[in-house]
Amino acid sequence: MAKKEKIKYLIIGNSAGGIGAAEAIREVDKAGKIAIVSAEPYPAYSRPLISEYLADRCPLEKMLFRPADFAEKNRIQTILGQKVKQVNIGEHTIRLENGRKIAWEKLLLATGGLPIVPQIEGINHSGVFTFGTLDEAKAIDQYLSHRVERAVVVGGGLIGVSATEALVKRGVKVTIVEMKERILNTILDEEASALAEERLQQAGVEIITGHTVAAVSSYYLSGDVTGVTLDDSSPIPCELVVVAIGVQPRTELVAGTGIKVNHGIIVDQHMATSSANVYACGDVAEAYDFIYGENRLTPIWPNAYLGGRVAGFNMAGVPTEYAGGTAMNSLKYFGLAIVSAGMVDPPDNSYEVLTKKREHSYKKVVLKDGLVVGLVFAGDIEKSGIVFSLMKDRVNVDGFKQALVADDFGLISLPEEIWRPRLEAPPSLLASSVTSVEKPEEIIIGE
Ligand SMILES: Cc1cc2nc3c(=O)[nH]c(=O)nc-3n(C[C@H](O)[C@H](O)[C@H](O)COP(=O)(O)OP(=O)(O)OC[C@H]3O[C@@H](n4cnc5c(N)ncnc54)[C@H](O)[C@@H]3O)c2cc1C
Repeated sequence: MAKKEKIKYLIIGNSAGGIGAAEAIREVDKAGKIAIVSAEPYPAYSRPLISEYLADRCPLEKMLFRPADFAEKNRIQTILGQKVKQVNIGEHTIRLENGRKIAWEKLLLATGGLPIVPQIEGINHSGVFTFGTLDEAKAIDQYLSHRVERAVVVGGGLIGVSATEALVKRGVKVTIVEMKERILNTILDEEASALAEERLQQAGVEIITGHTVAAVSSYYLSGDVTGVTLDDSSPIPCELVVVAIGVQPRTELVAGTGIKVNHGIIVDQHMATSSANVYACGDVAEAYDFIYGENRLTPIWPNAYLGGRVAGFNMAGVPTEYAGGTAMNSLKYFGLAIVSAGMVDPPDNSYEVLTKKREHSYKKVVLKDGLVVGLVFAGDIEKSGIVFSLMKDRVNVDGFKQALVADDFGLISLPEEIWRPRLEAPPSLLASSVTSVEKPEEIIIGE
């Protein structure tokens, strides 16, 4: 019979959420046994940096977001390269794919997301990849030695554009095929998407919108990709295909356990699931979004890390609330800096929209009842952080709203009672908005 061990805090997923939780636990419980299990074989690395790996084989040491001895120093047992096959809530155990069974007192699901792969003809041919892990970036890197000259990236979202930039840096001619009318459509509005498209096209990227890929073709003998066929039957020859049409929360471990799942695992303000002693955070969790006033998926790195910290404190018995996150992206593609957050395209005309467009820059702020609920800055993003902090802190901006998109906007444009505390706040608080924990009373993270 498999050996049964008991772990006080068991974390599945060794990435932003899992590490956030482990750090928080160790801050308040110096001795409790922590173990992190991950299907990936690497120490915790920054997932967005896989495009750097693909672009110029960025070494793993530079991708780690904690020192290599982090686990050892914090007395965290890591079980890497092992998939959890089953979670048994009643028994308080997990089973690994090698058959090993581990018992836990508190469990955190920080399992992230999995790329969605459309079941179209030829999708399993060699030369078709997804782009979500370091191993996938390595696999694409190796395949590039097959004399790849042209690639089709299916999906013009954040991950598709990241892959495109890396491939262009490797000298590959890329065509993006995007089903909607414009690229980056979930995080940008029309104007900012147009600026991004212009920048990609200047770099030689072809963008086809309003279409999708219906089939992938390959050589009969080798099975290597030779091209794709679009939904209007037009062919695009290529030697490589990257599928980046979206990511789905990796909820399979809780299927049939009774834990409540909508799109992701539903968590309350303590990042607790509907089952006692089981928590979830990051891309797999549906947590509170302070802009929409409801639980939503907000699959971005900072929310995964902050949610992980909140989960960790609560697991260790320090009541801590997640004040909520929202979608927030800060990107630089082909030299164009972009920041977007919250609601970038208001759903009706009860919202007020302020914009300023210059030749190479664009600013947009969306307001509702005097509060900032969304922003897009492209080109000139320098002051976007101030607008984001006003949004996050729910500051009424009615008295100075026009200044938010002005060329000379800065802290000094704000009333003194608003700018002074911001100027005096320690830089660490401004940068991360993480509230540190000194004493075991209810705290709020993310405010
Ligand atoms: C190419 C790319 C670019 C990105 N760019 C940005 C960006 O610019 N800004 C930003 O904020 N976000 C970006 N993101 C998103 C960001 O990386 C995620 O939001 C973040 O990594 C989520 O962290 P997480 O801890 O929830 O899960 P993940 O990082 O997805 O990690 C989950 C881990 O759990 C493991 N796991 C899952 N199931 C099991 C199992 N059954 N057994 C064992 N282990 C399991 C997985 O192997 C994985 O290692 C990007 C993502 C990608 C792929």
